[in-house]
Amino acid sequence: MNQQLVETHSTTLSRTARVFNVIVRQSACRSPRYDRLMNTQPMDTAMVGIWLEDGTLQQRDDLPRPTPPDGEALVRVLRAGICNTDLELVRGYYPFRGVLGHEFVGVVESGPRTLVGRRVVGEINASCGGCSPCRAARPTHCSQRTVLGIVGRNGCFAEYLTLPAANLLPVPDALSTDHATFTEPLAAALEIQQQIQIRPEDRVLVIGDGKLGLLVAQTLALTGCAVTAAGRHVEKLDLLRARGIDTVIVGRNADADIEATEFDVAVEVTGNASGFALARQALRPRGTLVMKSTYAGELTVDASSLVVDEIKLIGSRCGPFAPAIRLLTERRVDVTPLIAARYPLAEGLAAFEHASQRGTLKVLLHMADDAR
Ligand SMILES: [Zn+2]
Ligand SMILES: [Zn+2]
Repeated sequence: MNQQLVETHSTTLSRTARVFNVIVRQSACRSPRYDRLMNTQPMDTAMVGIWLEDGTLQQRDDLPRPTPPDGEALVRVLRAGICNTDLELVRGYYPFRGVLGHEFVGVVESGPRTLVGRRVVGEINASCGGCSPCRAARPTHCSQRTVLGIVGRNGCFAEYLTLPAANLLPVPDALSTDHATFTEPLAAALEIQQQIQIRPEDRVLVIGDGKLGLLVAQTLALTGCAVTAAGRHVEKLDLLRARGIDTVIVGRNADADIEATEFDVAVEVTGNASGFALARQALRPRGTLVMKSTYAGELTVDASSLVVDEIKLIGSRCGPFAPAIRLLTERRVDVTPLIAARYPLAEGLAAFEHASQRGTLKVLLHMADDAR
């Protein structure tokens, strides 16, 4: 690495340190393992990864390569995406210690013969199979579950991960690795349609023009309903307008653009109180409010207005992978404009710093070269 690049890297890291509490354990930019990552030299049993502990993000190159337990596969990660949940975990939304990350594409190194050597994506909830939610076919609500990079299980911001083989789905040849990295958030967007019926005559408001909001608006528009997307960023809403979706700018002086009690369904994808208030105000009586974002802290709600207007409140989380893969393969959802930046894994802290800047869309981490 030349001197100028090293300096740029160090500057970025010190900027990162101001945003998050970060530690670079051993010199990430000059270690043999960093060089190996950049030059694909022979592997050993340690690996590079982004580790969260006590609210501190660490660039590590001494993590043990995981050994898959029975029923699990070893996956070499190719690409991963940084999600708002990752940023919230760093800020302490939920106590987690381990490798962060849950959006990935990888290649199976060991596991079922039908999967070895194939590119895969993976459902993030590892369920027990025996508890009552599991027996009732609700594995994402398994009472014993671990969740990739979120609850009790190391995630995908590393060279390797393990997941139950049953969680893995092959990526079709026609689907690029970049696009397939969006499978998990796109599945989360599709969960709305698993939970509520969207009719062609429904007027649906999507509030929030971030990474997930742009996917939610695109998937809802595919149902044939009338979608309006509300957000603060003209250039992001333009991505939706280009696909024939109505948009409206909201902000301090622009709330009047959304008529009160106009919508049958409002999807809140901002994760903040003003987004929730806007969704509530936009709904007709007996309308449905879908909460598609996690909220850090508490939310104050006018409960009696929900009762009087008989509003349905739906919490919405993880969704179905197979339809997400199909929509991406058929290019019915456009994710290319959602990619804001790419970083090698060894510059993961700089990637986090970038992803945490307001209004940034998807920041991808590259673990290995992959032409697809
Ligand atoms: Zn996510
Ligand atoms: Zn279970």
